[in-house]
Amino acid sequence: MIKEIRSFPTAALLIIGTELVEGKIQDTHARLLCSLLTGYGIRVTEVHIVPDDANVSEMLRRMVPGSDLIITSGGLGPTSDDVTREAIAGAAGTELSLSREIERGLMERFGPSMPSSNLRQAYFPTGFEILENPFGTAPGFAGLVDRATVVALPGPPSELRGMVDLHMDRLLTSLFGRRQPEELLLSTFLIPESKVEDLLEECRTDSVQWGTRAEDFRITVKIRGGTAAGRDAVAECLSSRLGPLCCVSGEYQPHELLLDLLTEQSKTLVAAESCTGGLIAKLLTDLPGASRAVWGSFVTYANEAKVSLLGVPARIIERCGAVSAETVTEMCRGALDRSGADIAVAVSGIAGPDGGTPDKPVGTVWIGVSGGSGSVVRRFVFGGGRDRIRRRSAAAALLLAWGLLKGFDVDKNT
Ligand code: ATP
Ligand code: MG
Repeated sequence: MIKEIRSFPTAALLIIGTELVEGKIQDTHARLLCSLLTGYGIRVTEVHIVPDDANVSEMLRRMVPGSDLIITSGGLGPTSDDVTREAIAGAAGTELSLSREIERGLMERFGPSMPSSNLRQAYFPTGFEILENPFGTAPGFAGLVDRATVVALPGPPSELRGMVDLHMDRLLTSLFGRRQPEELLLSTFLIPESKVEDLLEECRTDSVQWGTRAEDFRITVKIRGGTAAGRDAVAECLSSRLGPLCCVSGEYQPHELLLDLLTEQSKTLVAAESCTGGLIAKLLTDLPGASRAVWGSFVTYANEAKVSLLGVPARIIERCGAVSAETVTEMCRGALDRSGADIAVAVSGIAGPDGGTPDKPVGTVWIGVSGGSGSVVRRFVFGGGRDRIRRRSAAAALLLAWGLLKGFDVDKNT
């Protein structure tokens, strides 16, 4: 048989989850993994989405001849429907063996009352490398099935994202040599696209090119061409101009960043929303895993609601106005008192089209964040219509909360 010679590595994805094929949730992993792999110059040739009870061993055996790398997601949990570890061991023609170290870790985490089903998570296909998972209980693993490397990652999105950041660069480098990503992706927030474009122009080096894409809550910047050093220099220049609150590496939304961080720090958040009308809560609770970190939101649109639900003193609203630093500070205080959450975010603004004054034009929004490590109160004036003002307000509130939890000097950033 003539062995196929490929000039570029190929990869395939096997996304496992019954909720996905039943249409209950939408897959987010393929997009993340495909863009990561493509960025490394690896061609993704197949993506399969299958239910938990699919014959994963058989699928893997069929995928192996066409792929140098196969990444699976899901099915690493402790329950009987989580069968990925058995399936991969089966495809590799090996048994599962117990990792004493992971077993010890689980015992320490759960104590003597650990359900015996959790012990399943300490078993791995023999000979596979265990991939530590500080974001959850189920570690991943990587090893060979014939000539393809199979990497198994957990299903919960915050765990998958964390594991990708923690392990994939090293794994891809050890498999395929140092393949500098051929393009860099950055997410920028709260900055108009034209401003991002101007800054990129100022940061230009040699033959590096870029493209920007504006979406709801961010502008994605793709930097390509030129040398790896040139691309890095442009990315570093842009992020230093924008600051850590407004520019992060990778493709993220503000609510994803915040929920991941809340989960990582085991903190809970409460919102007190006026002009965003529940949008902050909606965005956060769109993400699986939100229940661990989101207490809820007070939607206090009318002044009376701010007074009766949050205990904002009526005289503060009379004296300073509902759209003011004082009011959002009181909204944060009330929300924290009533919920017992660790951090509160409050928004009050004029989304228009009516209600603007010369002092407080349409688009004026006050945002407060308070809890734990400190507090911040900031005024923004957003352009655009009602819908954009509300979306931008929510994004700014989410980012300020994220920045405060990260320990950034949020007052200094836009
Ligand atoms: P667990 O310990 O939570 O069972 P697991 O590795 O077995 O972890 P799954 O049971 O497959 O993972 O998925 C856990 C949850 O993560 C799912 O209920 C779903 O909410 C979410 N999830 C899994 N896969 C995806 C995906 N491809 N896209 C988006 N969300 C996903
Ligand atoms: Mg599971």
